[in-house]
Amino acid sequence: MVSVDEGEDLEEKKLLGSGGYVFAKLTEQEELSANLGVPQIFLANVGRLNESRFSKYYCNKCGKEYPGSAVINYENPNEELGEGVILVEKGEYKCRICTNVIAHYRKFNKRK
Ligand SMILES: [Zn+2]
Repeated sequence: MVSVDEGEDLEEKKLLGSGGYVFAKLTEQEELSANLGVPQIFLANVGRLNESRFSKYYCNKCGKEYPGSAVINYENPNEELGEGVILVEKGEYKCRICTNVIAHYRKFNKRK
């Protein structure tokens, strides 16, 4: 993973989740890797970002926008899924107020 220099060119983007959306600053590289040829960027494709990158989020259940980051919970199961694919990390973004899940993400590694 490339470490992000704070001085790097970050652009604020809207990232969609299943239970809401967030606004976060992404590097061009992150935006490219999360963009799967559709105009929307999905939080599930971006994975975990430092909380300081988020400016606000919207919770569908509350029907409200909140400043700052949603709560990020994650674990690193390092679970072998077969065919050399390992589930490295799974996590979720949750609303701070009602704990509604804003988005899930999963990170896989392919064993060489
Ligand atoms: Zn909520």
